[in-house]
Amino acid sequence: MSFFEVFDPVFGQFVLANAPVKQLATGFDWVEGPVWFGDAKCLLFSDIPNNRILRWTPAVGISTFRQPSNFANGHTRDRLGRLVSCEHGSRSVTRTEYDGSITVIADEFAGKSLNSPNDVVVHSDGSIWFSDPHYGIMTNYEGFKSEQHLPCNVYRVDPALGKIEAVITDMVCPNGLAFSPDEMTLYVSDTGAIFDLEATREIRAYTIDSLGKPRAGRSFYTIDPGACDGFRLDTDGNIWSSAADGVHCIDPNGNLLGKIFVPELVSNVCFGGRGKHQLFITATTSIYSVSLNREGLN
Ligand code: MG
Repeated sequence: MSFFEVFDPVFGQFVLANAPVKQLATGFDWVEGPVWFGDAKCLLFSDIPNNRILRWTPAVGISTFRQPSNFANGHTRDRLGRLVSCEHGSRSVTRTEYDGSITVIADEFAGKSLNSPNDVVVHSDGSIWFSDPHYGIMTNYEGFKSEQHLPCNVYRVDPALGKIEAVITDMVCPNGLAFSPDEMTLYVSDTGAIFDLEATREIRAYTIDSLGKPRAGRSFYTIDPGACDGFRLDTDGNIWSSAADGVHCIDPNGNLLGKIFVPELVSNVCFGGRGKHQLFITATTSIYSVSLNREGLN
Protein backbone atom coordinates (compact mmCIF):
# COMPACT_ATOMS: atom_id res chain seq x y z
CA MET A 1 0.00 0.00 0.00
CA SER A 2 1.22 3.42 -0.83
CA PHE A 3 1.63 6.00 1.88
CA PHE A 4 0.45 8.71 -0.53
CA GLU A 5 -2.36 9.56 -2.91
CA VAL A 6 -1.66 12.09 -5.64
CA PHE A 7 -4.54 14.37 -6.71
CA ASP A 8 -2.38 16.82 -8.66
CA PRO A 9 0.87 15.81 -10.40
CA VAL A 10 2.80 18.48 -8.48
CA PHE A 11 2.24 16.47 -5.29
CA GLY A 12 4.31 13.70 -6.83
CA GLN A 13 7.30 16.04 -6.52
CA PHE A 14 6.51 16.91 -2.90
CA VAL A 15 6.69 13.34 -1.61
CA LEU A 16 9.53 10.88 -1.85
CA ALA A 17 8.45 7.51 -3.15
CA ASN A 18 10.92 5.64 -0.94
CA ALA A 19 10.37 7.65 2.27
CA PRO A 20 8.11 5.87 4.76
CA VAL A 21 5.46 7.29 7.06
CA LYS A 22 7.14 6.05 10.19
CA GLN A 23 5.71 5.65 13.68
CA LEU A 24 8.24 7.22 16.06
CA ALA A 25 6.52 6.45 19.37
CA THR A 26 3.16 5.24 20.62
CA GLY A 27 1.17 4.51 23.77
CA PHE A 28 -0.26 8.00 24.37
CA ASP A 29 -3.94 8.97 24.64
CA TRP A 30 -4.48 12.11 22.55
CA VAL A 31 -1.40 13.83 21.23
CA GLU A 32 -1.43 17.38 19.88
CA GLY A 33 0.63 20.55 19.57
CA PRO A 34 3.85 19.40 17.89
CA VAL A 35 6.63 22.00 17.81
CA TRP A 36 10.21 21.54 16.61
CA PHE A 37 13.30 22.87 18.39
CA GLY A 38 16.12 22.59 15.86
CA ASP A 39 18.61 24.02 18.36
CA ALA A 40 17.84 21.21 20.82
CA LYS A 41 17.17 18.70 18.03
CA CYS A 42 13.90 17.73 19.65
CA LEU A 43 10.18 17.65 19.07
CA LEU A 44 7.85 18.72 21.88
CA PHE A 45 4.20 17.69 21.85
CA SER A 46 1.26 17.43 24.24
CA ASP A 47 -0.37 14.25 25.50
CA ILE A 48 -3.39 16.20 26.67
CA PRO A 49 -5.46 13.71 28.74
CA ASN A 50 -2.30 12.65 30.58
CA ASN A 51 -1.53 16.25 31.45
CA ARG A 52 2.00 16.25 30.09
CA ILE A 53 4.29 17.69 27.46
CA LEU A 54 6.64 15.09 26.01
CA ARG A 55 9.93 15.39 24.18
CA TRP A 56 11.13 13.19 21.33
CA THR A 57 14.72 13.13 20.11
CA PRO A 58 16.17 10.87 17.43
CA ALA A 59 18.85 9.65 19.87
CA VAL A 60 16.83 9.07 23.04
CA GLY A 61 13.23 8.71 21.93
CA ILE A 62 10.59 9.83 24.44
CA SER A 63 11.15 11.66 27.71
CA THR A 64 8.97 13.94 29.81
CA PHE A 65 9.40 17.67 29.24
CA ARG A 66 6.75 18.92 31.71
CA GLN A 67 4.21 17.18 33.92
CA PRO A 68 1.74 18.37 35.01
CA SER A 69 1.38 20.66 32.00
CA ASN A 70 -1.95 22.35 32.87
CA PHE A 71 -3.39 20.14 30.12
CA ALA A 72 -1.37 22.00 27.49
CA ASN A 73 -2.55 21.68 23.91
CA GLY A 74 -1.04 23.66 20.98
CA HIS A 75 2.46 25.10 20.98
CA THR A 76 4.62 27.32 18.85
CA ARG A 77 7.82 29.32 19.24
CA ASP A 78 7.92 33.08 19.30
CA ARG A 79 10.34 35.14 17.21
CA LEU A 80 12.96 34.79 19.96
CA GLY A 81 12.61 31.03 20.00
CA ARG A 82 10.70 30.76 23.26
CA LEU A 83 8.00 28.16 23.72
CA VAL A 84 4.45 29.57 23.64
CA SER A 85 1.74 27.19 24.86
CA CYS A 86 -2.03 26.96 25.07
CA GLU A 87 -3.23 25.49 28.37
CA HIS A 88 -6.72 24.12 28.96
CA GLY A 89 -6.25 23.65 32.71
CA SER A 90 -5.21 27.22 33.45
CA ARG A 91 -7.37 28.59 30.61
CA SER A 92 -4.39 30.61 29.46
CA VAL A 93 -1.63 31.13 26.95
CA THR A 94 1.84 31.05 28.47
CA ARG A 95 5.43 31.60 27.46
CA THR A 96 8.33 29.57 28.82
CA GLU A 97 11.27 31.88 29.40
CA TYR A 98 14.93 30.96 28.82
CA ASP A 99 15.37 30.30 32.54
CA GLY A 100 12.39 27.94 32.61
CA SER A 101 10.00 30.29 34.40
CA ILE A 102 6.52 30.61 32.94
CA THR A 103 4.85 33.91 32.05
CA VAL A 104 1.09 34.17 31.53
CA ILE A 105 0.45 36.02 28.28
CA ALA A 106 -3.36 35.92 28.31
CA ASP A 107 -5.95 34.43 30.64
CA GLU A 108 -8.95 36.75 30.31
CA PHE A 109 -10.79 39.01 27.93
CA ALA A 110 -13.14 41.84 28.99
CA GLY A 111 -12.80 40.70 32.60
CA LYS A 112 -13.89 37.12 31.89
CA SER A 113 -11.87 33.88 31.90
CA LEU A 114 -10.88 32.53 28.52
CA ASN A 115 -12.40 29.15 27.56
CA SER A 116 -9.52 26.81 26.78
CA PRO A 117 -6.89 28.17 24.39
CA ASN A 118 -6.22 25.53 21.76
CA ASP A 119 -3.66 26.60 19.18
CA VAL A 120 -1.35 29.53 18.65
CA VAL A 121 0.78 31.29 16.06
CA VAL A 122 3.19 34.22 16.33
CA HIS A 123 3.23 36.97 13.68
CA SER A 124 6.56 38.46 12.55
CA ASP A 125 5.63 41.65 14.48
CA GLY A 126 5.73 39.56 17.66
CA SER A 127 1.96 39.55 18.23
CA ILE A 128 0.53 36.28 19.51
CA TRP A 129 -2.66 34.96 17.89
CA PHE A 130 -4.60 32.10 19.44
CA SER A 131 -7.91 30.27 19.18
CA ASP A 132 -10.16 29.82 22.21
CA PRO A 133 -12.80 27.12 21.61
CA HIS A 134 -14.58 25.48 24.54
CA TYR A 135 -13.29 21.91 24.09
CA GLY A 136 -11.05 21.92 27.17
CA ILE A 137 -13.82 22.93 29.59
CA MET A 138 -16.72 20.82 28.28
CA THR A 139 -15.56 17.60 29.97
CA ASN A 140 -12.92 16.48 32.43
CA TYR A 141 -11.03 14.51 29.77
CA GLU A 142 -8.73 17.25 28.47
CA GLY A 143 -8.89 19.69 31.37
CA PHE A 144 -11.44 20.68 33.98
CA LYS A 145 -15.15 20.80 33.26
CA SER A 146 -16.10 24.42 33.87
CA GLU A 147 -18.49 27.16 32.88
CA GLN A 148 -18.02 28.96 29.59
CA HIS A 149 -18.01 32.76 29.91
CA LEU A 150 -16.96 33.87 26.44
CA PRO A 151 -17.82 32.97 22.84
CA CYS A 152 -15.22 30.95 20.96
CA ASN A 153 -13.05 33.66 19.43
CA VAL A 154 -9.62 34.17 17.95
CA TYR A 155 -7.55 36.70 19.90
CA ARG A 156 -4.48 38.77 19.19
CA VAL A 157 -2.12 39.83 21.96
CA ASP A 158 -0.17 42.99 21.24
CA PRO A 159 3.58 42.37 21.62
CA ALA A 160 4.38 45.66 23.31
CA LEU A 161 1.35 46.39 25.45
CA GLY A 162 0.12 42.88 26.12
CA LYS A 163 -3.34 44.14 25.17
CA ILE A 164 -5.72 41.38 24.11
CA GLU A 165 -8.21 41.91 21.33
CA ALA A 166 -10.89 39.62 19.83
CA VAL A 167 -10.05 39.64 16.12
CA ILE A 168 -12.32 36.85 14.81
CA THR A 169 -15.75 36.47 16.36
CA ASP A 170 -17.75 34.76 13.58
CA MET A 171 -16.64 31.14 13.99
CA VAL A 172 -18.30 28.31 15.92
CA CYS A 173 -15.09 26.77 17.30
CA PRO A 174 -11.84 28.14 15.89
CA ASN A 175 -8.98 25.67 16.24
CA GLY A 176 -5.75 25.55 14.18
CA LEU A 177 -4.38 28.77 12.70
CA ALA A 178 -1.46 29.92 10.55
CA PHE A 179 -0.44 32.82 8.34
CA SER A 180 0.38 32.65 4.64
CA PRO A 181 4.08 33.26 3.84
CA ASP A 182 3.39 36.97 3.11
CA GLU A 183 1.17 37.23 6.23
CA MET A 184 -1.61 38.75 4.10
CA THR A 185 -3.92 35.82 4.83
CA LEU A 186 -4.75 34.15 8.12
CA TYR A 187 -6.07 30.59 7.84
CA VAL A 188 -8.20 29.33 10.73
CA SER A 189 -9.94 25.99 10.97
CA ASP A 190 -13.42 25.66 12.46
CA THR A 191 -14.07 22.28 14.04
CA GLY A 192 -17.58 23.04 15.27
CA ALA A 193 -19.33 22.51 18.59
CA ILE A 194 -18.02 19.53 20.51
CA PHE A 195 -21.10 17.32 20.37
CA ASP A 196 -22.31 18.45 16.93
CA LEU A 197 -21.34 15.63 14.58
CA GLU A 198 -22.93 17.45 11.63
CA ALA A 199 -20.90 20.62 12.12
CA THR A 200 -19.19 22.21 9.14
CA ARG A 201 -15.52 21.45 9.44
CA GLU A 202 -13.65 23.86 7.23
CA ILE A 203 -10.61 26.02 6.97
CA ARG A 204 -11.52 29.68 6.57
CA ALA A 205 -9.24 32.30 5.02
CA TYR A 206 -9.21 35.88 6.35
CA THR A 207 -7.57 38.75 4.49
CA ILE A 208 -5.39 40.92 6.70
CA ASP A 209 -6.28 44.58 6.14
CA SER A 210 -4.03 47.63 6.25
CA LEU A 211 -4.56 47.89 10.02
CA GLY A 212 -3.38 44.33 10.50
CA LYS A 213 -6.89 43.02 11.26
CA PRO A 214 -8.45 39.91 9.70
CA ARG A 215 -11.38 40.78 7.47
CA ALA A 216 -13.72 39.14 4.97
CA GLY A 217 -13.45 35.56 6.16
CA ARG A 218 -14.29 33.08 3.42
CA SER A 219 -14.67 29.35 3.20
CA PHE A 220 -11.34 28.04 1.92
CA TYR A 221 -11.39 24.23 2.16
CA THR A 222 -13.73 21.68 3.70
CA ILE A 223 -11.96 18.70 5.19
CA ASP A 224 -13.42 15.32 4.31
CA PRO A 225 -13.22 12.92 6.00
CA GLY A 226 -12.91 14.28 9.51
CA ALA A 227 -11.91 17.78 10.49
CA CYS A 228 -8.98 20.10 10.26
CA ASP A 229 -7.74 20.35 13.82
CA GLY A 230 -4.26 21.72 13.16
CA PHE A 231 -2.07 22.54 10.18
CA ARG A 232 1.16 24.15 9.05
CA LEU A 233 2.36 25.70 5.77
CA ASP A 234 5.38 25.08 3.60
CA THR A 235 7.43 27.94 2.16
CA ASP A 236 5.34 27.98 -1.03
CA GLY A 237 2.15 28.52 0.97
CA ASN A 238 0.74 25.01 0.63
CA ILE A 239 -1.28 23.93 3.65
CA TRP A 240 -0.59 20.58 5.33
CA SER A 241 -3.69 19.82 7.35
CA SER A 242 -4.85 17.10 9.69
CA ALA A 243 -7.79 14.96 8.53
CA ALA A 244 -9.38 11.70 9.60
CA ASP A 245 -7.47 9.68 6.98
CA GLY A 246 -4.12 11.39 7.39
CA VAL A 247 -2.70 14.69 6.17
CA HIS A 248 -4.15 16.66 3.25
CA CYS A 249 -1.97 19.00 1.20
CA ILE A 250 -3.94 21.97 -0.15
CA ASP A 251 -2.55 24.66 -2.43
CA PRO A 252 -3.14 28.40 -1.78
CA ASN A 253 -6.14 28.31 -4.17
CA GLY A 254 -7.87 25.69 -2.07
CA ASN A 255 -7.18 22.70 -4.34
CA LEU A 256 -6.38 19.32 -2.80
CA LEU A 257 -2.98 18.30 -4.17
CA GLY A 258 -2.53 15.02 -2.35
CA LYS A 259 -2.83 13.01 0.84
CA ILE A 260 -0.48 11.26 3.22
CA PHE A 261 -2.23 8.30 4.79
CA VAL A 262 -1.78 7.79 8.51
CA PRO A 263 -3.33 4.81 10.30
CA GLU A 264 -4.71 6.92 13.20
CA LEU A 265 -6.83 10.08 13.43
CA VAL A 266 -4.44 13.01 12.95
CA SER A 267 -4.65 16.08 15.20
CA ASN A 268 -1.80 18.27 14.01
CA VAL A 269 1.52 18.52 12.18
CA CYS A 270 4.72 20.55 12.19
CA PHE A 271 7.83 20.73 10.06
CA GLY A 272 11.22 20.01 11.56
CA GLY A 273 14.34 17.94 11.21
CA ARG A 274 17.27 18.82 9.00
CA GLY A 275 16.30 21.68 6.68
CA LYS A 276 12.69 21.50 7.97
CA HIS A 277 12.12 18.76 5.40
CA GLN A 278 10.49 16.39 7.85
CA LEU A 279 6.79 16.50 8.69
CA PHE A 280 5.98 15.42 12.24
CA ILE A 281 2.43 14.19 12.75
CA THR A 282 0.55 13.83 16.03
CA ALA A 283 -2.17 11.20 15.65
CA THR A 284 -4.27 9.96 18.58
CA THR A 285 -1.94 7.51 20.41
CA SER A 286 1.23 7.99 18.33
CA ILE A 287 3.61 10.36 16.65
CA TYR A 288 4.72 9.75 13.06
CA SER A 289 7.13 11.43 10.69
CA VAL A 290 7.73 11.49 6.96
CA SER A 291 10.48 13.18 4.96
CA LEU A 292 9.24 15.44 2.18
CA ASN A 293 10.73 17.35 -0.72
CA ARG A 294 9.36 20.49 0.94
CA GLU A 295 10.52 23.04 3.49
CA GLY A 296 8.40 24.13 6.44
CA LEU A 297 7.55 27.82 6.68
CA ASN A 298 8.38 28.12 10.37
MG1 MG B 1 -6.22 21.93 18.00
